[in-house]
Amino acid sequence: MTTIKDFHRRSIQDKEGFWGNEAKRIDWHKPFSKVLEYSKPPFAKWFVGGETNLCHNAVDRHLAERGEQKALVWISTEVDKEESYTYRQLHAEVQRVAAMMVSLGVGKGDRVIIYMPNTPEAVFAILACARIGAVHSVVFGGFAAASLAARIDDAKPALMVTSDGGSRMGKPVLYKALVDESIKLSQFPPKSVLVFRRGLDANMPVVAGRDVDWVELAGKHKGAQVPCAWLESNEPSYILYTSGTTGKPKGVQRDVGGHAVAMAASMEYIYCGGPGETIFTTSDIGWAVGHSYIIYAPLIAGMTSIIYEGVPIRPDPGVWWKIVQDHKVKVMFSAPTAIRVLKKSDISWLKKYDLSSLKHLFLAGEPLDEPTHAWISEGLGKPVIDHYWQTETGWPVLTAMPGVEQTPIKFGSPSFPAYGYDLKLLRESDSSEAGADEKAVVVIEPPLPPGCMSTLWNDDARFVKTYFSTIPGRVLYTTFDWGIRDKDGYYFILGRTDDVINVAGHRLGTREIEEAVNMHPGIAECAVVGVADQLKGQMPMAFAVVKDPAQVASPEGRMKLEGEIMKTVDKQLGAIGRPSRVFFVALLPKTRSGKVLRRSISALAEGRDPGDLTTIEDPASLEQIKTALKGASKGTP
Ligand code: AMP
Repeated sequence: MTTIKDFHRRSIQDKEGFWGNEAKRIDWHKPFSKVLEYSKPPFAKWFVGGETNLCHNAVDRHLAERGEQKALVWISTEVDKEESYTYRQLHAEVQRVAAMMVSLGVGKGDRVIIYMPNTPEAVFAILACARIGAVHSVVFGGFAAASLAARIDDAKPALMVTSDGGSRMGKPVLYKALVDESIKLSQFPPKSVLVFRRGLDANMPVVAGRDVDWVELAGKHKGAQVPCAWLESNEPSYILYTSGTTGKPKGVQRDVGGHAVAMAASMEYIYCGGPGETIFTTSDIGWAVGHSYIIYAPLIAGMTSIIYEGVPIRPDPGVWWKIVQDHKVKVMFSAPTAIRVLKKSDISWLKKYDLSSLKHLFLAGEPLDEPTHAWISEGLGKPVIDHYWQTETGWPVLTAMPGVEQTPIKFGSPSFPAYGYDLKLLRESDSSEAGADEKAVVVIEPPLPPGCMSTLWNDDARFVKTYFSTIPGRVLYTTFDWGIRDKDGYYFILGRTDDVINVAGHRLGTREIEEAVNMHPGIAECAVVGVADQLKGQMPMAFAVVKDPAQVASPEGRMKLEGEIMKTVDKQLGAIGRPSRVFFVALLPKTRSGKVLRRSISALAEGRDPGDLTTIEDPASLEQIKTALKGASKGTP
């Protein structure tokens, strides 16, 4: 048994040997002639000359051995439905949708924007694109019309695929109506819009000559056989626009071969999932996690993947754990926000079901604070692995790798650099390498490993400028995150380099202060933002969600808790990090992917316009911030 240290070293020192070996995990229609071509840094080409297809590897390849095994299980607690598809059924569905797309004029290299809720049809559409070599761009359903229009204009799709609607907390979300609106705003509208009707919008408008009914068209393509298009490994497979960016969206572009190999390897080394086993990833398919760990990695590995439409607390906070029990889930993947939501309910929900099948719970997407990490680990009695990655990387950068070696978990830490990533922590002052316990910028020495973005869609120059030009005189990939490595080699992510606040000349990550506030046992979660201060430049201000609202029902209660929190921060971080005020709210403004909208909060606190709110999950949360701030100006805590 190798150690993760040796494993990592080998992946960096002998990139070609390491990845050449991993490439055997997938089927190649034509073998590659070179593992890595890196003559034009920072552009890395993996498995040059090789030809393969993602859909073949995810579906067709499994038919002989596991055709009757479930590939996909769809569970919707929104519309109260469950459906499952064997690999053979998935093969038929995907071919049918591929034939439908071809009939609408979609061919190799054409873009297809998919704007759909978590439903099997969305998975069919994604895999159908992969099958015919079309480039899919899935846009998360929470985006507003203007954001979708910006993505349409960047991708210039031949086709858009949507549903009449989705559902969230029992309320319909109208997808098709929003597509119509976005097309009105766009300069490069698609010729056709394929619409899957779920019966969630009785008044759905239809644009004659453009809109095509899914079921009607599917009826004409029953039993269709559409062969896989063999693509050179470096051709684009998909575009995924990064969340939370303002201005022109960044279209992260992924390749074919490198992506397939990275997915397959990660399923064994990181997630410990194998053929015939079940994975439950709670993400939306519109995020990188959904692409990688609902669809591509599980199916390439021959697993059963559960796709879920709903929230973690409906019909009750035990719903996910019941799914784990009923479907014998071995690997589960979720986000810290979801766990913090669950943390507001009784811990007994974690004990109600038989979770003996579950090996690990993986969490990613945002910082996992130490108390939440401890709460869920103890509650489940299972290893909970915090791992760190970005839309850009497509798979984990920092993680435990239980498929290579079992290493102890430290709460609040995403463990170690994954194989393939030559990670460095550089001092901001002079770009030299930081020592233990020293806060620094997380960078990656290129070439980026297989599976990471190959460029930005249609914008090589922006790819180089944004990601590889921030360290003077060197070509290094910047993650835009602060990190720290402790004496034992464990890493901690301290928030974005672009979310830093400066208090009297001291630079502080808002995440560091949040972590300190969260140490108070009465706090469920919080957001800390920098607010302009005449004396000190900026001051941190905290907005906290309490576990027990009764605690802050009176002005006295609020004042008492505010004082206690300040003391906790003093203790954890020092008085420099102490928030100028702590306000109590019932929920925090977040994007639908769970990222706190710190910029909007600090804008409100500074009396400015909160900016682009198209991705906000619940606009009522901003009202709460406004009310809290208004109370403050009247002198009430
Ligand atoms: P996105 O591309 O939208 O998934 O956002 C990626 C960013 O989320 C990273 O750059 C980090 O700032 C943050 N992030 C993701 N995973 C973690 C994690 N495990 N711990 C801390 N921050 C994380």
